[in-house]
Amino acid sequence: MTEQTHPRTYRVKSFGCQMNVYDGERMAELLAEKGITPAPEGEEADLVVLNTCHIREKAAEKVYSDIGRLVKAGRAAGKEPMIAVAGCVAQAEGEEIMARAPAVSMVVGPQAYHRLGDMIDKAVAGERATDTDMPKNAKFDVLPQRRKVGPSAFLTIQEGCDKFCTYCVVPYTRGAEISRPFSDLLREAETLVEAGAREITLLGQNVNAWTGTDDAGRAVGFDGLVKAIARLPELQRIRYTTSHPMDVTDGMIAMHGEVDKLMPYLHLPVQSGSDRVLKAMNRSHTAEGYLRLLERFRAVRPDIALSGDFIVGFPGETEAEFAETLALVDAVKYAAAFSFKYSPRPGTPAAAMDGQIAREVMEERLARLQDALNRDQLAFNQASVGKVCEVLVERRGKRPGQWLGKSPWLQSVFFESPAAIGDLVRVELVEAGPNSLAGRVL
Ligand code: SAM
Ligand code: SF4
Repeated sequence: MTEQTHPRTYRVKSFGCQMNVYDGERMAELLAEKGITPAPEGEEADLVVLNTCHIREKAAEKVYSDIGRLVKAGRAAGKEPMIAVAGCVAQAEGEEIMARAPAVSMVVGPQAYHRLGDMIDKAVAGERATDTDMPKNAKFDVLPQRRKVGPSAFLTIQEGCDKFCTYCVVPYTRGAEISRPFSDLLREAETLVEAGAREITLLGQNVNAWTGTDDAGRAVGFDGLVKAIARLPELQRIRYTTSHPMDVTDGMIAMHGEVDKLMPYLHLPVQSGSDRVLKAMNRSHTAEGYLRLLERFRAVRPDIALSGDFIVGFPGETEAEFAETLALVDAVKYAAAFSFKYSPRPGTPAAAMDGQIAREVMEERLARLQDALNRDQLAFNQASVGKVCEVLVERRGKRPGQWLGKSPWLQSVFFESPAAIGDLVRVELVEAGPNSLAGRVL
């Protein structure tokens, strides 16, 4: 590590899931409290935080090459940045990063980043530090209040996972399932609305596993939390992600017919359409059970847009089992979806299973699955043409005079009438593409 002065500017680069985006925003707020400001566009920052993701392959290698690039760019500019590695690779690799990358000053896990300020002071004093402790909820008690957010803000309500799907690193990198206290969440939701949010997306690795107690000590489930947040008068929309089929309750399904502010969208990963593969994945649901759950959501909210996650090429997956996944996709007709090639994660049970699938086979299956998912996404968008809905304006589009917002079904909608960020405008959807729609303001 080269000699460091106190950083004046920072850049946080977040990779991976929305929970990392949330953590990245909270780290930025913390740095701002310390008087460190965002580096202007095109300028090297004094402090770079790499907020990493470990869910799929080459994540760690990518971090090392990012570090190499930062050092090189810093040398060319005459000053190497202070580098912090945060997120799930930091949690998983810890001291290994310190040993392999002398340019790194700090390694900080997802449960410890509230101590980033102290770590910066240590780095200035020439000390390198690793903090991968997992104190329960500690960071939320000390992070600064949220002062300025966009119209659509994230709120982490639950972290960690106890499900131990055999392919997944999350239970190891994010720790055991914990729920943030009800009163803290109401307070943070209120602060977000005061800071400009019109939509809040509740986040968790298994968001619907959230449980808590209200001020009177009564048990509150996930649906109770959603209803309480929906009572904030200036909040217009609520979303949540990611849900696990095992934690779906009657109340959670019913709330989609009861809470007007809850958007008609459900991201419920299934991973595979084959019961044998699901069992080997330790998913605790069958394909049939999953389809029945979706029917129940559709019964209370017929227009609900459905989304899911898929893994192709799990060890031992046969062509016939993959065909069951295609059949499930055909039955559901997803509005959107995320699909991945299976990636063996060090230390997970699936990485040591027999029957690892060749890369070319995975690639070919992924291409077929994505063809089907893309076809359904386009069909969903095309079926929306003619609908009248509200769009929450998030930013200007690329073309002059163009604005971009989200429909209730999380579709990107472009339109060309004057608007302001944060407006809810009524539009008729007039044209559909695979990834967005055009709207006409009414
Ligand atoms: N908790 C959520 C659930 O159970 O659906 C998902 C959280 S995980 C961060 C997001 C997605 O990454 C998973 O749904 C899965 O499809 C994918 N994923 C996780 N581990 C993977 C692996 N080893 N290889 C490929 N995809 C993986
Ligand atoms: Fe990973 Fe499974 Fe937990 Fe989701 S439920 S985070 S896929 S272990």
